[in-house]
Amino acid sequence: MRAATRFDLVQKDIPEAWYNIAADMPTPMPPPLNPATNEPMAPELMEAIFPKAIIAQEMSSERYIEIPEEVREVLSLWRPTPLMRSVRLERALDTPAHIYYKYEGVSPAGSHKPNSAVPQAWYNKQEGVKRLATETGAGQWGRSLALACRMFGLECIVYMVGSSYRQKPYRRMAMETWGATVHASPSQETEFGRRIRAEMPDTAGSLGIAISEAVEDTVTHPGTKYALGSVLNHVCLHQTVIGLEALQQMEMAGEYPDVVIGCAGGGSNFAGIAFPFLRQNLTGGKKTRLLAIEPESCPSLTKGEFRYDFGDMAMTTPLMKMYTMGHDFMPPALHAGGLRYHGMAPTVSHLKNLDLIEARSYGQHEVFEAATLFARTEGLIPAPESSHAIKAVIDEALEAKREGKKRVIVFNLSGHGLLDLTSFEAYRTGSLNL
Ligand SMILES: *Cc1c(COP(=O)(O)O)cnc(C)c1O
Repeated sequence: MRAATRFDLVQKDIPEAWYNIAADMPTPMPPPLNPATNEPMAPELMEAIFPKAIIAQEMSSERYIEIPEEVREVLSLWRPTPLMRSVRLERALDTPAHIYYKYEGVSPAGSHKPNSAVPQAWYNKQEGVKRLATETGAGQWGRSLALACRMFGLECIVYMVGSSYRQKPYRRMAMETWGATVHASPSQETEFGRRIRAEMPDTAGSLGIAISEAVEDTVTHPGTKYALGSVLNHVCLHQTVIGLEALQQMEMAGEYPDVVIGCAGGGSNFAGIAFPFLRQNLTGGKKTRLLAIEPESCPSLTKGEFRYDFGDMAMTTPLMKMYTMGHDFMPPALHAGGLRYHGMAPTVSHLKNLDLIEARSYGQHEVFEAATLFARTEGLIPAPESSHAIKAVIDEALEAKREGKKRVIVFNLSGHGLLDLTSFEAYRTGSLNL
């Protein structure tokens, strides 16, 4: 009989609580610091940009945090997401490895990011906020927040990294369809944006610049708060629905992973798939390897320094202890726009520093080669970001083949690539820029 290739949960199986890794960290995380004093950041100071409930989650060390019912109801538009076994890819690689992927591309925004956008919009709404400002790289977070704001009747302002705004117009059109206002960053809307445009008229923009613009917009518009799509503890927390569901689905599949893989930009989808499995390592005697994959041209975890740094270019955020390329690092205009962040989630960084997770980096060409093999075997066209994970999956499966041993691999397919087809064409026609 053929192996089962799809493991589906039903709506009632959507997790009732998020898993907070802070409760199980072997040593406490270094706190965020106030850059003015170098003292731990006072929560009240963050209330200018975040609602109280989100700040509480950011600081929480409670192991499980209940997901509000209205949030679960919106998540149920696409959750639980399927877990699939890639039998056709296994066959093409002629490997004894079993390869599973958790598919987050089924959300209306096409990626995992609405898992955090929805609760963030909801908590803001509860506290009377009318308008949310944010930045977006490739446009995935902007789409996710635009969608979430629409679900709860909030206004949404998005500063979109200029290179993506020009290369990926469909992302902007999707945001505008949901009713958001989108500005190419650096923009004329903020003082910081106007300054960068004067100093660097040809800049492709960066997430660091766009974050600075969104924060400035927030503090200069009453009734406005800010929402961040990755990096922070509460975002990683919200993404754990991915791994919590995957744990149940692997049980349905009757296997347990030897290795769990996710791509890492700011670290949230990796955290989402990995942390619930890491809990089983820390408290349940399991020995799953957890592997974060990043691009060679923005290698914070593999080549960055572990130190306190700003989250944005204008140095307006608290200082966070993380692997960083430096807050003024200007990554190239990579096709995987979602992986162009200079830093890494403090949770993921702390765990890497403790050697509880591993990291690896790949170049764009080998990543698109892997993505094309995946598309030609499994059918699904993955996002360039997710394709970094696929390259690592293929390497792991080939290593299992060399060893002649079974290896159970689970990875997060964080989004589909249907709005990235120009990048696939660049690969096919030999004109990838790196
Ligand atoms: C944004 C994005 C990423 C990277 O962000 P993380 O916070 O590291 O998860 C990865 N994949 C897709 C499809 C994205 O949209």
